[in-house]
Amino acid sequence: MLTDLVQAIAGEEIQVEGLMGPGTDPHLYKPTARDAASLSQAQAILYNGLKLEGKMQDLFTQMAKQGQLVVAVAESIPPDQRLHPSEFEGHPDPHVWLDPQLWALCIEPVLHTLTQIAPQHEALFTSRAKSLHSEYQKLHTWGLKRIDELPENSRVLITSHDAFNYFGKAYAFDVIAVQGISTVTEAGLADITRVIDTIKEKQVRSIFVETSVSAAAIERISKDSGAEIGGQLFSDAMGIPGTLETDTQGTTYDLGTYEGMFRHNVNTIVDALLP
Ligand SMILES: [Zn+2]
Repeated sequence: MLTDLVQAIAGEEIQVEGLMGPGTDPHLYKPTARDAASLSQAQAILYNGLKLEGKMQDLFTQMAKQGQLVVAVAESIPPDQRLHPSEFEGHPDPHVWLDPQLWALCIEPVLHTLTQIAPQHEALFTSRAKSLHSEYQKLHTWGLKRIDELPENSRVLITSHDAFNYFGKAYAFDVIAVQGISTVTEAGLADITRVIDTIKEKQVRSIFVETSVSAAAIERISKDSGAEIGGQLFSDAMGIPGTLETDTQGTTYDLGTYEGMFRHNVNTIVDALLP
């Protein structure tokens, strides 16, 4: 998601390299020797932050100490707009990209960083940043309208891990995850029982797997509760670039883009939860 944002502003003026591809879990991702070489040669290193990239933080800190320009974009989100789910022990939830309005706040630090390394393109970068802002706003407005099709009592979103809190807040969903906010610990029996009870109590029709997290727990819950698997959502990674999907309204989008990721998620959730 961040590579997509940076690329949209950088265009062809700056070479952008994303280290984590489709299906990659950022909580568990360990930097390779090649990544370390790329990072040490980069003019700027941009990452999400808020403890998302748990196994890369040491390397980022080390790079910053060596004088590299290292920026955690999501840490520019004002503290009063961050969520602190109880299971994350006082730390803010890092999954800010699942709310386009919040993600739009990360445009500014990216613009600022790119302008620092290529000041001659400031006007161009600024105009791209402006377009991106309105793109995210348009996506949000579309999302609100699409989700409006769901009656309030159908807005229960059950997924593998706790990535959808900001999404839930923005679009009025009750969000329940089998695993905590990070995928470091696996789902236990108590987690599975808790989710099955909720499915029965709230009569939830569909639950969802995620592209970057093992589907085992959700599959088991589906079998034991009778709720169907409503599809696969993009939580912490996007799809393979060039994979196109067309929704029931006739809009085609690329699953390897931020826009496509968001439209796919919203369409999948609404289609599966409609009574
Ligand atoms: Zn996550």
